[in-house]
Amino acid sequence: MNTVTETFGSLVFDDRVMKANLSAKVYQSLKKTIDEGTELDLSVANAVASAMKDWAVANGATHFTHWFQPLTGITAEKHDSFITPAPDGRVIMEFSGKELIKGEPDASSFPSGGIRATFEARGYTAWDPTSYAFIKGKTLCIPTAFCSYGGEALDKKTPLLRSMEALNKQALRILRLFGNNDVKYVRTSVGPEQEYFLIDKEMFDKRKDLVFTGRTLFGAKAPKGQEMEDHYFGVIKPRVAAFMAELNEELWKLGILAKTEHNEVAPAQHELAPIYTTTNIATDHNQLTMEIMQKVALKHGLVCVLHEKPFAGVNGSGKHNNWSMATDTGVNLLSPGETPYENAQFLIFLCAVIKAVDNYQDLLRISVATAGNDHRLGANEAPPAVVSIFLGDELAAILEAIESDKPYAGTKKTTLKLGVDVLPKFARDTTDRNRTSPFAFTGNKFEFRMLGSSNSISCANIMLNSAVAESLKIYADRLEGVDNFEQSLHEMIKKTIKDHKRILFNGNGYDETWIEEAEKRGLMNYRTTPDCMPHLLDKKNVEMLTSHKVFTETELKSRCEIMLDNYCKTVVIEANTMVDMARKQILPAVEAYVKEVSKTAVAKKQFAPDASCEYEKKTVTKLSLLMEQILDKTETLEDEIMKLKFISDVKQESYAIRDSILPKMGELRAVADEAETLTADKYWPFPTYGELLFGVK
Ligand code: ADP
Ligand code: MG
Repeated sequence: MNTVTETFGSLVFDDRVMKANLSAKVYQSLKKTIDEGTELDLSVANAVASAMKDWAVANGATHFTHWFQPLTGITAEKHDSFITPAPDGRVIMEFSGKELIKGEPDASSFPSGGIRATFEARGYTAWDPTSYAFIKGKTLCIPTAFCSYGGEALDKKTPLLRSMEALNKQALRILRLFGNNDVKYVRTSVGPEQEYFLIDKEMFDKRKDLVFTGRTLFGAKAPKGQEMEDHYFGVIKPRVAAFMAELNEELWKLGILAKTEHNEVAPAQHELAPIYTTTNIATDHNQLTMEIMQKVALKHGLVCVLHEKPFAGVNGSGKHNNWSMATDTGVNLLSPGETPYENAQFLIFLCAVIKAVDNYQDLLRISVATAGNDHRLGANEAPPAVVSIFLGDELAAILEAIESDKPYAGTKKTTLKLGVDVLPKFARDTTDRNRTSPFAFTGNKFEFRMLGSSNSISCANIMLNSAVAESLKIYADRLEGVDNFEQSLHEMIKKTIKDHKRILFNGNGYDETWIEEAEKRGLMNYRTTPDCMPHLLDKKNVEMLTSHKVFTETELKSRCEIMLDNYCKTVVIEANTMVDMARKQILPAVEAYVKEVSKTAVAKKQFAPDASCEYEKKTVTKLSLLMEQILDKTETLEDEIMKLKFISDVKQESYAIRDSILPKMGELRAVADEAETLTADKYWPFPTYGELLFGVK
């Protein structure tokens, strides 16, 4: 097996393998479950399990695991062996339908936000047959959802599948109104572009901040950063190229359609983009991609850093969630069609997204909120914390024409009426010019750009799917049974544009004036996780998400709690790491250097009594002062960390972290970074920004 076409998907129990290894009857029945969500009976499950096991064993597997995505944001697996004792003392390899469908990991230490008391710690995992099983190492991994015994979701996949179902249901109602009766289902698709940094492993290991927190907590700017923009799409260095080649190979074996790899704007920053696929598969694949990236990097003496802001002063890493809706008959609902009717259909789906994004700006912001991503959003960087939509001039002008019943220059007819005129096809280059928008229409899909590089994409897609399902539901409720469909449709689209045009913004999203303008428009601007997260429980949000059965209220409360708790823990670990580094590394290093310089001055005076010793004096004076400041700021930070122990409410704790811990960390960093610039390289106790960012050849 050498060629890509042969190795691609070789470790996946995909359709090809199913067809070859299952009886026609079992295959048909499984296929129906996959496509239409019909229940699987146990005899079919047994047959599938047995074929899966044989295939896995033939490919070197000895164990199986129910692979799931707990709320920690990473994936979890507990390996069970296939072996079962046989009566004659030997073992046989076995795997039953029951074991395939349901697993019971001891899950007491996964976060549940209070849903599951520890005495009933057992949750269960349920097979997601829509995402193919695959082999990792010697283990057959079965993608599963993870729930409590009460049926409450304890993972990220369950609500994602529910949100896809909600959108499917409402989208079908709209399609039926347009007379599309042959469509069986509507699915959302996602292509997530993943950014990351590659750092030399030896250097990485010398930095406690990177090791413990994934980002640098200290570090003066290197003389060169990204100002020359010579890294973006630049020539890929040999070590990085070797990493990328192996990464692609590993991903291809898992059936992950890794397509493009290139250098990003910041030095040492790169990007990987897969070809888009159904949302829950794309989500599984993105989790796997992040995991495999880290594994493969180690093989090359590198560390793949997925933190949103590993380095101050250079771009952070995000993830672009390219999102669209398509029918099983192959129609992309966000693509303008060939006929006026298709165009009206396109416009209503477009409007559904506009309405959704405006009404649920807060949910979208919440869906990407983590301590790490706060350093990008709301800071002076790629997308602001304000959610807005970029449509491009052409589409914006069309909507304007519809809203005001004015002629649109782009069409032959004088007035643009729905169901009459043919819309122009939007060429990519007219829609994709704006790279600063958090939510951009790019021809036939939307690109949600606020996700952090380490985020699971499920959260963003849960909110997006649900919010769009809600718009579609409102439309369907209004349109079903009206006498004049075209007229009602036209009015509804007009109304959506009128009501929600404040969310449309084609300008530069990084610009300070936009933030002011956005405030005037009444758009939300939640700069930090503590600012936005509590709004998850706002009445309108709870009502919407529970009405579509995406979350129960209990699940929402638990998630809010977990996210805030995660925020607090993350920052406290960072603060503790800073204290440790300041006391045990930075202060002793500066002290040693000061000692060396002082000694030199004394020696100089001995041999050259007239020497001014200006350099030594200045250096020792400045550094001594800075050392006092470093000590002072370290002690203050320690005090602030201590105070947190007296706060029991997680929301209050998150506010304390936002308002006191993070600013104090910033102050400590500032004085330590200044000391770095005055200390000789060989005394500095860990690799500098220059070494980290330009160290990989
Ligand atoms: P870029 O944004 O870097 O210019 P592309 O727009 O070509 O690159 O693709 C970005 C990502 O969008 C890819 O992962 C691609 O597969 C995905 N994509 C393309 N079409 C769709 C679609 N209809 N739905 C969802 N994702 C899509
Ligand atoms: Mg992109």
